[in-house]
This record gives sequence, C-alpha cells and structure tokens, in this order.
Amino acid sequence: PDGAPADTKRVLLASPRGYCAGVDRAVLAVEKALEVHGAPVYVRKEIVHNRHVVTSLQNKGAIFVGETDDVPEGAIVVFSAHGVSPAVREAADRRQLHTIDATCPLVTKVHKEAVRFARGDFDILLIGHTGHEEVEGTAGEAPEHIQVVNSPDDVDGIEVRDPDKVVWLSQTTLSVDETMETVRRLKEKFPNLQNPPSDDICYATQNRQVAVKKIAPEADLVIVVGSRNSSNSVRLVEVALEYGARASHRIDFAAEIDESWLEGVNTVGVTSGASVPEILVQDVLAWLAERGYGRTEEVVTAQEDLLFSLPREIRRDMKAKA
Ligand code: SF4
Repeated sequence: PDGAPADTKRVLLASPRGYCAGVDRAVLAVEKALEVHGAPVYVRKEIVHNRHVVTSLQNKGAIFVGETDDVPEGAIVVFSAHGVSPAVREAADRRQLHTIDATCPLVTKVHKEAVRFARGDFDILLIGHTGHEEVEGTAGEAPEHIQVVNSPDDVDGIEVRDPDKVVWLSQTTLSVDETMETVRRLKEKFPNLQNPPSDDICYATQNRQVAVKKIAPEADLVIVVGSRNSSNSVRLVEVALEYGARASHRIDFAAEIDESWLEGVNTVGVTSGASVPEILVQDVLAWLAERGYGRTEEVVTAQEDLLFSLPREIRRDMKAKA
C-alpha cells in the first residue's frame, strides 16, 4: 500500500520466539509414536495449541479426540503438553489405553507443587484462565484445595479457610506483569501468602515477553504468529500493546495479514508463540518483504538451549522396536 518510503521500512524480529522445549518434545513424541506404532495414534486434546501443527499431525495419521472415552479400548493415546488431571489418567487406565505422556516437564513441576501444598492442607490460589486445559489438569490434582484466580479483579471475591496457610501457583503461560499485579493484590489481602518454590511462568513464556517488550516501543505494528487458543501467543499481543506498539495483531498464517495494517507503518515487529513452527514466521517475513519490508533486524534478548528428552514411554517403545 501507500505506507512509508521503502528505505525506512524495516522488520524487527524478536528472539527468542517460537518453539519451546516442551512443544518440541510433545510434537516429536506424536511423530515418534506414529513411526513406532503406525497410524492411528490418538491424541487427547490438541497436542499443542497451534492449528498448523495439529493439521500436519492429522495428515500423518494422528487422531485428535476430546476425551479418552473417544479412544478405542487398548489403543495408543498421547496426552498433550498441557498436562492432565489424575482423573484423566484413571479413565485411560480403565480403558486399558497405552498412554504416552507428553506433558511438559515444567507443567508437571506445577502439578507436583500443587500436590505437595495440598498434602500440607494449604489453600492454593492458582492464577490462570478457567477452562484452559493446563489449569484443568493442575486444579484436578487437588480440586478441594485449589481455587482459580483469573485476574487481579478476582481477588476481592476470594475466601480461604486460614489466611496464614495460603500459597499461590500459576499457569505457565501468563503475562508476567499481570500475574505480579494479581499477586500484589492477593498479598494485600493475605499478607502471609506464600510464593511458589520457583517460577511457575516458564522460561519460554518469560523470554518471549521480554523480547517483545524490547521491540514494541519501536514498532508501529507488532505481528504475533500464534493460534487463538494459545495462551502465551495471546499474551504477546497484550504485552506488545502495553509496551508501546501502536497496533498488534495475532495471526495463524501470513494470508491472514490485512494489507491495511501496513498503512503509515515504518517498523513492523514480528514474534511467535511457543507452539509456532518457524516456517510460519518465515512465511510472514516473505509476505512482508514482498511489500517492501525486506530489511530484517533480529533483536536478541536471550539464548535458549534447553532440550527435554522424549517421554519415557516412547523411549521404551523405540528401544523395544530397535
Ligand atoms: Fe513447557 Fe513453557 Fe513450552 Fe508450555 S510454554 S510447553 S510450560 S516450556
């Protein structure tokens, strides 16, 4: 369009962006399960919240189901990166499913914290989004001890049994700033509120927010690649706007970019959520380059080299087949 002169147009590409260690492992677990066992391999819920990833795995023979009841008895089912409650594990056992657990180890860590504090008879305030699969899984570890706190505005309505025995935990993919505001409000109400033993918001979520905070003040537009139901991707749009981007939009695919967004835009920031394959970002960069935004500067705020080994069940299956 008639945007800025070509020589001032540029792209700031956030780094880190895209795949985290937990997503990488979960997607690979499904691919390996398909290799070892052949299709179909059932997956409970979306393995990660990304449309492209889900469609690609479906094309390779994965069948996504809502619940383990939808899986034929004795079949193979993969649990998604977001984790499952004990009730789901029991339901899978009753149907004698061959389960492969692709829960991210950093989600499992929060589950363990929930179990530990519930054993200590604490009231657990789980900051997160009601209805999100991860929150359902974590809350399911100790439903009688856990209340979900969606936002700072929820704090007023919270009641606990003993204000000296309260701890907060959180979903892994929240806005760091908003969570800290919720905690501040909670501590006003419950001064003896305990912190989690270590950060529940994971390294990948934190790093992607730090990177977008760095590019947002200079960006007229920030494009976030990620799916609608991807919590950490949606948070990146909010953070970009809070940190000074004039506009920010989330898209699944380059084809969803509206040319009118580029009007008067010199600098486009680009980032992607933790469940987004890099190919989708490269498509966006190519789309932008065709419209004069071919000059790309990568803005690096951290290096990531974390890798998780594959779920134990699939390692065992691979070994048995070898
Ligand atoms: Fe694990 Fe964080 Fe990735 Fe979620 S976003 S899968 S918690 S590393």
